[in-house]
Amino acid sequence: MSSKVQACGIYARISSDDGSALGVARQIDDCTREAERRDWKLAEVFTDNDVSATKSKRRPEYERLLQAIETGGIDAVIVFDVDRLTRTPAELERFIDLADRHHIALASIGGEVDLATPQGRLTARIKGSVARHEVEQMSRRLKRKFQENAKEGKPHGVTPFGYRREHIIDDQGRNAGYREVIDPVQAEAVRELYRMVIAGQSLRSLAKYMTDRGFKTSRGNDFAGNVIGNMLRNPRYAGHRTHEKQIIGTGNWEPIVSQDTFDQAFAILTTPGRRHSRGLEARYLLSGIAICGREGCGGVLRPNVHKPRPDGKQRSSAYVCPRCMKLTRRMDPVDELVNDFMVAYLTKFNLRSTATDKPDALRSAQEARDAVLARMDTLADSFAVGEVTARQMARINEQLQVQLEAAERDIGRLQPNRILHGMTGPGAAAAWEATTIEHKRTIIRSLLKVTILPSGPGVKFADDQVLIEPLA
Ligand SMILES: [Zn+2]
Repeated sequence: MSSKVQACGIYARISSDDGSALGVARQIDDCTREAERRDWKLAEVFTDNDVSATKSKRRPEYERLLQAIETGGIDAVIVFDVDRLTRTPAELERFIDLADRHHIALASIGGEVDLATPQGRLTARIKGSVARHEVEQMSRRLKRKFQENAKEGKPHGVTPFGYRREHIIDDQGRNAGYREVIDPVQAEAVRELYRMVIAGQSLRSLAKYMTDRGFKTSRGNDFAGNVIGNMLRNPRYAGHRTHEKQIIGTGNWEPIVSQDTFDQAFAILTTPGRRHSRGLEARYLLSGIAICGREGCGGVLRPNVHKPRPDGKQRSSAYVCPRCMKLTRRMDPVDELVNDFMVAYLTKFNLRSTATDKPDALRSAQEARDAVLARMDTLADSFAVGEVTARQMARINEQLQVQLEAAERDIGRLQPNRILHGMTGPGAAAAWEATTIEHKRTIIRSLLKVTILPSGPGVKFADDQVLIEPLA
C-alpha cells in the first residue's frame, strides 16, 4: 500500500448456502479485526441479504458500495472472501477495473486471496474461472459456519433425546438461535439406559423400558432396540461435540452421563457379535450358551419349547443340539444346576480379580484421550480466530482423530468388568434371584463354559451330565 487508507468499507453478504444473520455478524467481526490489523480506518459497513439469491437479483448495498467507491467515499474494501463480493467472474473483473481506476485497496480474510496485490488478483481470477472453486469456497464457508457454531458450543442437528431446545433471546428481544438444555425426565431415562447396558441387559429390554414409560422417538414412534443402541453410542451424552460421527471438541451443553459411564457402555455396545444377535428376547438361561458334549459335535444348544396340548398335558421344554440332532436335555434340572453353581461361585468370587490388572495403562489411555480432546478444542479455537487455515485444520484433525480412536480402543480393552458389580459376596444368592435373565446370561457367558454331556436313551438326569467349567 503506497498511501494510507483513510476510509475503509466492509462488505458482507449472506446467501442461501450459509444463510443466517449470525454469518454476517461473523463476517463483519473478522473484517473489522482485519481492518485493525492493517491499521485501516473503518468508514462504513455494507450488508446484503442475498438468501433467496438468483444471479440476476439486485444487491442494493453492493451497488451503494460501488457508488461510494465512485464518489471517493471509501478507498479500501475488506471482505470475508472474494465470493462474498462478486458472484461471477464477470462481476469480479468489473470490480477489479473499478478498483484500479480509483486506486482501491482490497483485502480478504485468511490471506488466501489478497486483492491488494497483483498476485492476489491473478489468483482470484484463476480461481474465479474454475468451477471447482465455487465448491471449495462453499465448503470453506460451511466449515467456517460450522466452526463458528462449534466455537460457541452450539448444538448441531436434531436435538437428542434427553435434551430440549431453548430459544435464546438477545438484549433487543430478537431470536438469537437456541441452545440445548437437559430435560430432567428424559435425561434420567437416558442415565437408566446406560446403567442397564452396563448391567448387561439386552437392547430389547431397553426398548421395553422406554415403551413402558411412554417415551417416543422424535418422530413419534416407539423406541426400537437398535435405535437406542445408536443413541447411546452418541458421544454428545458425555458432552462431546461431533461432526460426521467424529468427536471434534467439547459442547457447551451439560453432559448427561460421565465419560466413565459412556466409555463402559460404548465398549459393551460395540463388542463384536453383539450386533449380530438374533434379536429374539432371551428367555432361557442357557440357549445359545450351553454346548453339545457329543464327541466331535460342539453344537450350540437351542431351546425346544412345546405349545400346551389340548388335553392339558405339557411336554417339558428342553435344550436340543441343532447340529447333531442327537442331544436333548430337559431344561429345568439343567437350569437349576447352573443357577446353584452360579450362586455358590459368586458368593466366594473375589471381585478384585475382575478389575483391570493394568490400572496405570488404563489411566494413561484416559489421559491420552483427554489430551487429544483438549488439542481438538484448541485447534477449533485457532481456526475460529484465523490462526490456522481450513486445510491445516482438516489435516491436523485427521491425525488427532486417529490418536483419539487408538486411545478409545485402549480404554475399552483395559476397562474393568462392571458386569459383576453388586452380584458377588454374601448377597450373591439374593442378587442372582433378583436380576434379569439377560444379566444372568451375560454373567454365565463371561465366566463359565457349560457343556451338556450325552447320556443313553431313558437315562435319568444326573448332575454329572452337565460339565461346568469356569473360564480362566
Ligand atoms: Zn450335538
